[in-house]
Amino acid sequence: MTTGTRRDYYEILGVERSAGVEEIKKAYRRMAVRYHPDKNPDNPDAEERFKEASEAYAVLSDPEKRARYDRFGHEGLGDVGFTGFDSESFVDFADILGDLFGFGDLFGGRRRTSHRAQRGSDLRFTMSLTLEEAARGVTKTIRVPRLEVCDECGGSGVAGGGSPETCPTCGGRGQVAYRRGFLTVAQTCPSCQGHGRVVRNPCRACRGRGRTEHEVSLEVKIPPGVDNSMRLRLSGEGESGVRGGPPGDLYVVVAVEAHELFTRDGADLHMTLPVSVFQAMLGTRLRVPTILGEEQEIEIPAGAQPGQVIRVRGKGMPVLESRGTGDLYVHLKVVIPERLSPEQRRLIEEAAAHGGEAVRDDEGLLHRIRRRLANDG
Ligand SMILES: [Zn+2]
Ligand SMILES: [Zn+2]
Repeated sequence: MTTGTRRDYYEILGVERSAGVEEIKKAYRRMAVRYHPDKNPDNPDAEERFKEASEAYAVLSDPEKRARYDRFGHEGLGDVGFTGFDSESFVDFADILGDLFGFGDLFGGRRRTSHRAQRGSDLRFTMSLTLEEAARGVTKTIRVPRLEVCDECGGSGVAGGGSPETCPTCGGRGQVAYRRGFLTVAQTCPSCQGHGRVVRNPCRACRGRGRTEHEVSLEVKIPPGVDNSMRLRLSGEGESGVRGGPPGDLYVVVAVEAHELFTRDGADLHMTLPVSVFQAMLGTRLRVPTILGEEQEIEIPAGAQPGQVIRVRGKGMPVLESRGTGDLYVHLKVVIPERLSPEQRRLIEEAAAHGGEAVRDDEGLLHRIRRRLANDG
């Protein structure tokens, strides 16, 4: 079974649902400064956070998208559990932020110049696994909708497969200059949105965008020992690039379902085993299930106590990418029978009397407690 989960956009930016436009802008700016890839080289986590924040900002800063998101959540935005965030938008944000807050330098290296190729966006897929699947490892086929290069136009976006024309407004530079007071400010060209090229006769299949949505089946091999929130990167399996850029990556995020018998603590597993009071008193050997299916015999020592833990070495979860295995901890739950037959009752009373235990409280409560304390001391 596979499902997609997405974080709430307000949560990502750390703002209230009632937050105003300025507050959202400020929150996004804080995140962008902190997690910008240029400031966090080779930190996939920061990159992920940056993308997440940018995506949240793209939606919450657009009144129409925000209203839809408020009413319907992620579904309202027309996708099903995928982060289809176009890396192209980074640069638009950089422009917005640079202009608004005057820190264009931070984004200097990423500013778009004309019709440069863009890497496709990364996708995220949440894969639910049973604990058994996480223990054994599993190969699953997932269906991923993603944007791929349009077959009709070969990605140019032009009907018949020609090339886009140079934008007449900006002469192909992607930016236009305008005067604000005594300053000359460069702004993204409104005619071509910074691409530097315009499509006059757009391809019908992709409506000029150069990419269309396809659903692809991918085989994903999950190694034994994975745990919640672990990510597998499938290099190049994200969305196709724009204008000949490389594809993005697909991240498969693991979500391990709760198990009816075992609870997991890292590589160790814990389970509760009910034993009868007679088994606990007399001791016995019992078979317990293990996560890999085979049963394991364990020894219950005579006089075992409620809550006593029996450790079974090497019967926990495998450790990812190693030969190690965790242990299984069996927690004994001593079950007292609710009813006794008259014969059982007679025998147990007799057994108690043999041990010097008066079952009926003929002595009186205080007296008995005093005597017990005296015996113990
Ligand atoms: Zn096309
Ligand atoms: Zn232009």
